[in-house]
Amino acid sequence: MNRMANDRSALEIYPGLATSDGAGVRLTRYIGSPQLDHLDPFLLLDFFQSDNPDDYIAGFPSHPHRGFETVTYLLAGRVRHEDSAGHAGVIETGGIQWMSAGRGIVHSEMPEQEAGRLAGFQLWVNLPAAKKMAAPRYQEFSSSEIPVESRAHGVEIRVIAGDTSFGTQGPVRDVSTHPIYLDIALPPGQSFCEPVPPDYAAFVFVIDGPLQICGRTAKEDMLTAARQLATLGPGDRVHLVAENSPARCLLICGQPLKEPIARYGPFVMNTREEVLQAAHDFQSGKF
Ligand code: MN
Repeated sequence: MNRMANDRSALEIYPGLATSDGAGVRLTRYIGSPQLDHLDPFLLLDFFQSDNPDDYIAGFPSHPHRGFETVTYLLAGRVRHEDSAGHAGVIETGGIQWMSAGRGIVHSEMPEQEAGRLAGFQLWVNLPAAKKMAAPRYQEFSSSEIPVESRAHGVEIRVIAGDTSFGTQGPVRDVSTHPIYLDIALPPGQSFCEPVPPDYAAFVFVIDGPLQICGRTAKEDMLTAARQLATLGPGDRVHLVAENSPARCLLICGQPLKEPIARYGPFVMNTREEVLQAAHDFQSGKF
């Protein structure tokens, strides 16, 4: 393999924490947990996957957000969303919703199905202080609107956000933390290499594995299994190799904000006073 001295090694591997949220949706939390509180600018990552409607049918009824962005990416199933300003729609298999809550929205996220598989991710991306009170904004793309980059030997990359070194541009644009959000599929034994800015926080979530994360030296190579999250250390390139079975993973990177984080449930601001103000504004119907 073409190992390079600046390949980002896996720092830590996280198995995630089984929990439930909303009105009783079973999910696994990888970021925003006691093991990994945040990975600036990422505040939370949940993965959900079930064929049993009892695990998801209760959904996420009406709830607020302020000060950050929620990103929903569905691998299977359909989710209906509806907010207090009248914005509504359905996210379908392979679709993405990048919602910047800004100064505040109240919305619901409910399964648009009563049977079958529901699977996907919700990622929370922080906003800089200057954008926390901006107007809410949505970017929504269906599966067919997300470009698929085909590389040699059958490697395929769905480019959701960011530009790849091969020139594919993700449809999600103008996000403060300039994220890269890729869904990468590797045939057995094949590899994926991609430069990423050295100052970006980066992680890999393995959907189907195992997957090898190649480090600066052979000794630093780390084998990850399905449903594990690996945070990546310093370097300016990500290098992944599938083992003897097909592998699929998300590679997500973003520019750290390096600002104080004051967090209370669905409100993420810079100071405790701002969080209390958010709770007060929500309770007095100002969202
Ligand atoms: Mn929400």
